[in-house]
Amino acid sequence: MAKEVKTIILCNRAITYDLKKSSRAKRMRISIGAGGALSVTVPYRFPEPFIERFMREKAGWILRQITVFEQRGGRLTRYTRAHYLEHKEAARELAHTRLAHFNQFYNYSYGDISIRDQKTRWGSCSRSGNLNFNYKLAVVPEHIADYVIVHELCHRKEFNHSKAFWDLVARTIPNHKEIRKELKLL
Ligand SMILES: [Zn+2]
Repeated sequence: MAKEVKTIILCNRAITYDLKKSSRAKRMRISIGAGGALSVTVPYRFPEPFIERFMREKAGWILRQITVFEQRGGRLTRYTRAHYLEHKEAARELAHTRLAHFNQFYNYSYGDISIRDQKTRWGSCSRSGNLNFNYKLAVVPEHIADYVIVHELCHRKEFNHSKAFWDLVARTIPNHKEIRKELKLL
């Protein structure tokens, strides 16, 4: 059995799971182990694009299973404090690097950058200009991380979600609408 760690975004949450390829599996199976590991088992030659598509179709069911598991006091293995500590510094580095990159264009001032372990919140910007980001930026696809970073940076100019704000975002992330859909609806 081959095992790989993957991350998918379902309804605004980064869901990390173990993808297991098994020669004995006849169909795709999703389960949460007693220890809190979310596993997706597929037959060996199962085509990769179908895996994410299947998970998106089952997003409601998967998130319900996670909620029930968490309500019983469980915590998904991948969301432990150890996972946070493992990725926190990479997230900080990514935030600094990408902020500097995009700010060549915007040229706004900002304060401290902090990295936090949050469930559904991806980032925020305080009135005083401190930026806060979810550590999972380090494990989601690059275009998602970039969007979140630009979003918070643009709040330095527009502290709202007005048309003027989205116009600013669109200057460096022209496809932000699709990315927002990907974050919220998938
Ligand atoms: Zn915002």
